[in-house]
Amino acid sequence: MNRQNLLSALCLLLMLLGGGIVQAQTPERVQPHMEAVSEDEVRNLILLIGDGMGLAQVSMWRIEQSDEGSTAFDRAQNVALIATHSANNRVTDSAAAGTALACGCKTDNGTLGLTPEGEQVESMIERARRAGRPTGEVVTCALQHATPAAFYAHVSDRDDTEAITTWLVRSGVDLLFGGGAQYVTAAQRAQLQQAGYGLVTTLEEAERCPESKLLGLFADEHLPSALEGRGDYLPRATRLALDRLADEAQRRKSGFLLMVEGSQIDWAGHANDAEALVAEMEDFDRTVAVAMDFADTHPGTLVVVTADHETGGLSIPSNEADFKRSESGLRYAFSTEGHSGTLVPVYLYGAGAERIHGVMDNTALSHALMGLLGLE
Ligand SMILES: [Zn+2]
Repeated sequence: MNRQNLLSALCLLLMLLGGGIVQAQTPERVQPHMEAVSEDEVRNLILLIGDGMGLAQVSMWRIEQSDEGSTAFDRAQNVALIATHSANNRVTDSAAAGTALACGCKTDNGTLGLTPEGEQVESMIERARRAGRPTGEVVTCALQHATPAAFYAHVSDRDDTEAITTWLVRSGVDLLFGGGAQYVTAAQRAQLQQAGYGLVTTLEEAERCPESKLLGLFADEHLPSALEGRGDYLPRATRLALDRLADEAQRRKSGFLLMVEGSQIDWAGHANDAEALVAEMEDFDRTVAVAMDFADTHPGTLVVVTADHETGGLSIPSNEADFKRSESGLRYAFSTEGHSGTLVPVYLYGAGAERIHGVMDNTALSHALMGLLGLE
């Protein structure tokens, strides 16, 4: 008798001894009971971060629709605003902002998962993992890049890819989908396989892979941009991650935590490229819709959509000729090739959405979310 059968037999015996009804063993009967979640209980968190996505980026995306109210952002049931400054600059980078969102701690630009004094701070993903809940990250950049790394690494230099990869390998995060294959050594791959990970290089492989732990390395460095053929990777990878995490959470009788990043919104902002920005926003919007649709059918799921900071200092001046496009194409104005220090929006949907609103620091949002999940 293998371990699983032994456990099942033991459960059955306990149920019989406790006067439990044997019929309740059938999956059809167990399922509704396990799905029963009180209305205000937040079990699952889907945190979607649009890197560099300020209110102007969302406004731009709405303007570019034939029907302005049709974006996923318009489905939000509540909103908030967060301040994004880092510990040492009014304009944050993605490392400090990622740390603020992941760990609820202000730090200096360039720093991941450490206080300015160098002390480690535990991220919400690490807390969830410690509480026995499945976790995941889905991004379009290298998994070692600042935002995803802020959720599992603790290093003083965001460019120390080797150290970050070491953290990644021992992170225990159940699902990791993104780029960065070139940084994972053969020895680390063997180590991951020994720890039960399926290692895949395409989404098709990931869909077929039976392992509950998956490392999807879909590019040597970053995935292509939305304009250059990334296709439906982000919404599809998110859907797959949600299905896998939901199954695993049900098995563990727990909730799960998934972080998804629209990583390249930021790069289009740095390039002051309006067309690329709209393409990245379209991709992110479709991904947000996947998360919201999931919340519709999975009670106890909170969807939070926010940004780490704004990039490009985007503004939306009148284009005079036409409401949407001038003859020369998209007309938007950028004030910087770097990040800016404006507040960024938070959109909330699903379980507990009514419990976060107002103007707050990015670290306060992180603590509020960990509080709702019982991870404080
Ligand atoms: Zn940036």
